Amino acid sequence: MIKVTLSDLILIGMAIGVVFVCMQWVLAVLAERRASRRISDNVVFCRICGSAYQVEKHADITICPVCRTPNERNTMDAI
Ligand SMILES: [Zn+2]
Repeated sequence: MIKVTLSDLILIGMAIGVVFVCMQWVLAVLAERRASRRISDNVVFCRICGSAYQVEKHADITICPVCRTPNERNTMDAI
């Protein structure tokens, strides 16, 4: 049988807790990035009035709900 002191047991418990919190944090960051990417893939900026609107369909040409101008789906890539 392995003898474990109380201080070692507390240290092990704290280490497990820190690992658990770090794993939850990484999973939350990954979920946030995934959701942000999904939202940004569906947002189109109108080339005439500048308004942003969300489209659910994967059509290449969408109609702006504000000014009724047809717009191409734009990629919101970083410069
Ligand atoms: Zn517009």
